[in-house]
Amino acid sequence: MAPTEPAVAATAPVKTRPRPASHFVLVPFVAQGHIIPLVDLARILAERGARATVVTTPLNAARLRGAAEHAARAGLPLELVELPFPPAGSGLPHDCQNADMIADNYQFLPFFLALRELAGPFDAYVRALAPRPSCIISDWCNPWTAGVATSLGIPRLFFHGPSCFFSLCELMAANHGLYERIATAGDEDKHAVPGVPVPVTVTKANVPGFLIHPFLEELRAEAMEAMCTADGVVVNTFSDLEGKFLACYEAELGKPVWALGPLCLSNRDAQATASRGTMAAAAAQKAITAWLDEQAPGSVVYVSFGSIARKLPKQLFEVGHGLEDSGEPFLWVVKEREAAAPEVREWLDALEARTAGRGLVVRGWAPQLAVLSHRAVGGFVTHCGWNSLLEAIAHGVPVVTWPHFSDQFFNEQLAVDVLGVGVPIGVTAPVMIFDDETVPVAQEDVVRAVAALMGGGKEADERRKKAKEYGEKARKAMEQGGSSYENLTRFVHSFTRSEAKEH
Ligand code: UDP
Repeated sequence: MAPTEPAVAATAPVKTRPRPASHFVLVPFVAQGHIIPLVDLARILAERGARATVVTTPLNAARLRGAAEHAARAGLPLELVELPFPPAGSGLPHDCQNADMIADNYQFLPFFLALRELAGPFDAYVRALAPRPSCIISDWCNPWTAGVATSLGIPRLFFHGPSCFFSLCELMAANHGLYERIATAGDEDKHAVPGVPVPVTVTKANVPGFLIHPFLEELRAEAMEAMCTADGVVVNTFSDLEGKFLACYEAELGKPVWALGPLCLSNRDAQATASRGTMAAAAAQKAITAWLDEQAPGSVVYVSFGSIARKLPKQLFEVGHGLEDSGEPFLWVVKEREAAAPEVREWLDALEARTAGRGLVVRGWAPQLAVLSHRAVGGFVTHCGWNSLLEAIAHGVPVVTWPHFSDQFFNEQLAVDVLGVGVPIGVTAPVMIFDDETVPVAQEDVVRAVAALMGGGKEADERRKKAKEYGEKARKAMEQGGSSYENLTRFVHSFTRSEAKEH
């Protein structure tokens, strides 16, 4: 693709409003766990009177059409801009535009390399804007947005999707030579992460860091460089949850850290919740809600492993048998690709028949926020993707933690050891992102962890109590006068054109 090729704008119609005094251009990394919170942020920026533009690729824009239309109906200045992708010669299929469309672990490198080529069209799009945007907020994994911001003098913040606890560990590891020490150490050696206000030890297998695979080294270096030259960072958390980590992170980074979450709580009506991430969930929502309505309050365990991790049938079967044996009502999300094989489909049908009335298997995408906010849900077996974990916390739901890779082991430690809202399922090492051959969790592990989560007893009650308290604090953080609400007020103000501030 020629670097100067213009961006194709797909703008949702907006009711007439005064011209917004600030314009934020948001560039999520193209994975659901990165797009969803930035679209939430775009909408609350628009609700505060700013113009918000989400820049993405055609497939992702199509998924977000529901969110854009919802915003347009409310008269909010939120728009989607599409950049053509994948570029010719990338070797990627035309629909490989989101991490959840990657077919196997070998497509990751071509995918990241192809994303870099969005720099040219993005540059052309930004240069054509008049007036210039007030600020670019781009994902930590999108360092290719830095060039145009620097050359035009536009402030650029990076959005870092994980917990602040993880981001702090990652930064401390980088700044204090932990990666170099670990490179020459044994596999089993334990290393303390310095400068974190709680004890954290890591091994070679779960050292903190995004893009740390050897074949992604160059991309990681670019991302670290873009992090160092950014004007600040936006994080999806709140001070009553991660205050001590936020303070250390800001001090170490030496630039403003804006805690604006939990961004999921910006979805205040059923329609926004149903179309979150993709329109696909809207269709399923009615049936799922009807099923949940039949269940007793706090009785259902919700089971989902985010948008990317994929399990082979042998691991799926362990999960299914464990849920069946647990005796608890369950709502389990199995991805389309996981359920593609006829033997898996048949097995799931048989499981549903055996657990009729007590078990529901959702095939594909579930309206997770609608599920977690339903009064019937009393626990969540999660892979500890930060969005999922934060969504559970924001709705006062305790969790079973089953981390798979990346930041998830740190999010688990935060949930279990620091916040006291989680029961670990007992995994200790990361798995391959797709279709890992190992089966780290057996059905007995599922039974044990679900019993601990959903059962009675002092520990379970304490976990539920803490989850409720954090849920309450999360709600308050996002309300007028709350920490994240007021941070957002200051945030928007600091990027508002000065002539508009005077009026
Ligand atoms: N999600 C959803 N329905 C699904 C699967 C995922 O709504 O069936 C949403 C979930 O609510 C969260 C995001 O997708 O907002 C997943 O992000 P997370 O950080 O939890 O995990 P990742 O997908 O990045 O591993």
